[in-house]
Amino acid sequence: MQNRAILAVLTGAAFFAAACSGATSKPAAGIDGLPDLDMNAVLAHTRVLSSDEFGGRAPGTRGEELTVAYLVDQFKKIGLKPGNTDGTYVQRVPLVGITPTPAPLVLRKGGRQQTLKWKDDVVAWTKHVADVASLEQSELVFVGYGVVAPEYNWDDYKGLDVKGKTLVMLINDPPVPDPSDPSKLDPKTFGGKAMTYYGRWTYKYEMAAQKGAAGALIIHETEPAAYPFSVVQNKTGEQFDLVTPDKNMGRASIEGWITLEQGKSLLKLAGRDFEALKKQAATREFRPVPLGVTASMSIHNTLRTIDSQNVVGKLEGSDPMLKDEYVIYTAHWDHLGTGPEGIFHGAEDNAVGTAGLVELARAFTKLPAPPKRSILFLSVTAEEQGLLGSEYYAVTPIYPLAKTLADINMDGLNVHGRTRDLTLIGYGASDLDDYTRDAAREQGRVIRPDAEPEKGSFYRSDHFSFAKQGVPALDPDLGIDFVGQPAGYGQKVIDDYTAHRYHQPSDLVTADWDLSGAREDLKVFLAVGDRVADAATFPVWKPGNEFKAARDAMLRK
Ligand SMILES: [Zn+2]
Repeated sequence: MQNRAILAVLTGAAFFAAACSGATSKPAAGIDGLPDLDMNAVLAHTRVLSSDEFGGRAPGTRGEELTVAYLVDQFKKIGLKPGNTDGTYVQRVPLVGITPTPAPLVLRKGGRQQTLKWKDDVVAWTKHVADVASLEQSELVFVGYGVVAPEYNWDDYKGLDVKGKTLVMLINDPPVPDPSDPSKLDPKTFGGKAMTYYGRWTYKYEMAAQKGAAGALIIHETEPAAYPFSVVQNKTGEQFDLVTPDKNMGRASIEGWITLEQGKSLLKLAGRDFEALKKQAATREFRPVPLGVTASMSIHNTLRTIDSQNVVGKLEGSDPMLKDEYVIYTAHWDHLGTGPEGIFHGAEDNAVGTAGLVELARAFTKLPAPPKRSILFLSVTAEEQGLLGSEYYAVTPIYPLAKTLADINMDGLNVHGRTRDLTLIGYGASDLDDYTRDAAREQGRVIRPDAEPEKGSFYRSDHFSFAKQGVPALDPDLGIDFVGQPAGYGQKVIDDYTAHRYHQPSDLVTADWDLSGAREDLKVFLAVGDRVADAATFPVWKPGNEFKAARDAMLRK
């Protein structure tokens, strides 16, 4: 407490000096000198956005209309300028919505047949913009983890032609033991315990498409996937994609997941043992295994194209030379809509982050002077459909990415009270992490690296769309060291959320929400964006980071 009090005095003096020195040479204000966040307003926005009336905020529904209108109204009231150069507060995002008709997956070997029930056993879809997509007696090939990673000298395909075949794959990175301590994973291969992009389901389907496969089925396992099969089962309704010129015909006809139980019996039907194959798949010597089993499935689709919307407001920078450069804050407004299970309210995911974005914008307008560079507040659509709104922005930006210093993303906020720490997913990736560390330190708090890097969280929200293109991106998450709570409490609330509320209708505002920790976190995000927007130099990726090459190439142009 003492340290904090001293800091407050110092930063108060620094703040006073800043306020008196004129806008052109505004020194960074200490974090306590920054405007406070109105957490009652955050809670109020969250309640509105997660209400029954908003219907779970699915793209293309009345929930989208209500949400977009609400956010535009808030941005106007706050005094933000239209974020789009066409004078509006929205960026249209063309999407195709594909709703599959339930269908079984039929496996055959000789005279034997095994039928997997839709949703109970198999969740599948097509990205093809077509009325029907089918597998007709397509041969199954087990390809281990389905990874081709030259930098790790790893190739699960070993040159096998899998055109027209249906791939059966495991989820996550190949778990390669550390040669010096086989009880651990090798930190030099696929990031050790951390999940790389090779472990993500999206990667596996992308690689299947590159290989010309007809189908791609992932065997679900709760721990390596980082979520239970019930989360996969929520993908049986309408799914969206960006509309590509080839109508996504370059993708495998059918992509999907099967349960672990069905995966095991599929391999048994092929005369193989799941555990034995899984063990082989964790080695470089693994070779794909044709299973002698065929797959048949026919998915009929209902198609519609919609223009969904990113909502975007701008706080113009105060420096005439620098105001055409941008710091972006993102938070996805969309969630899963309404299904047979009920309304997916998505209070934590991500009504609360969207609410935080709105109040961050308001706090920025209360600074003594706006930052030198402009700040963009971007609430993106279709995150739940595969980061589509942010991908659309990052590929079709309103302002050049070469003039975009950073993306700071909020997906969920801490609703459980104050923490002594703040988690940064992928800690050490860029200078943004140092800014965050310094701002948190001024609150007497510390940065914690991701406690569960095996979940691959860095690839699972909208900052990744920016990182993929090369823009330094920050992915903060709630801390786990809670003030006034016993050790282990933080992990307990995270596990409880994953098991009982994540992507379920029960993700609601409850009476026990405590936003005092989120208030401190938001203030850190405010400080980081403000300081980056005033800094003499652009933040950069750290040497060796996987996104650095893309940024360097972009800035050389
Ligand atoms: Zn989310």
